[in-house]
Amino acid sequence: MNPKLLTLDARLGLDKYEIDEEQSHIQVDQERCKTCEAKPCLTVCPAYVYQWVDEHVAVRYENCLECGTCQISCDHGGNKGITWRNPQGGFGILFRYG
Ligand code: SF4
Ligand code: SF4
Repeated sequence: MNPKLLTLDARLGLDKYEIDEEQSHIQVDQERCKTCEAKPCLTVCPAYVYQWVDEHVAVRYENCLECGTCQISCDHGGNKGITWRNPQGGFGILFRYG
């Protein structure tokens, strides 16, 4: 299949994930989130990892593309509530290009 013809969703569908079931590589400080007015994490993440559910930020870390956008947006437009680190060795996304 010609990778140039793939949609974004189809390209992302090629990728593989090794999910660390034991621990998330993303931590959020819910107290800071409650007083965060802009909540940029909810809109900047291309993988919709962050969602506002029942008055707190739910983090679906298993979908993370490891782009780092959320950390930057939280630090500069949010309330500095995210602590993001690379997944442990062997875990995380494995990009494939068709
Ligand atoms: S941007 Fe940061 S502080 Fe604001 S809601 Fe999201 S994770 Fe919390
Ligand atoms: S690193 Fe990128 S994909 Fe992962 S949670 Fe942050 S914004 Fe979303």
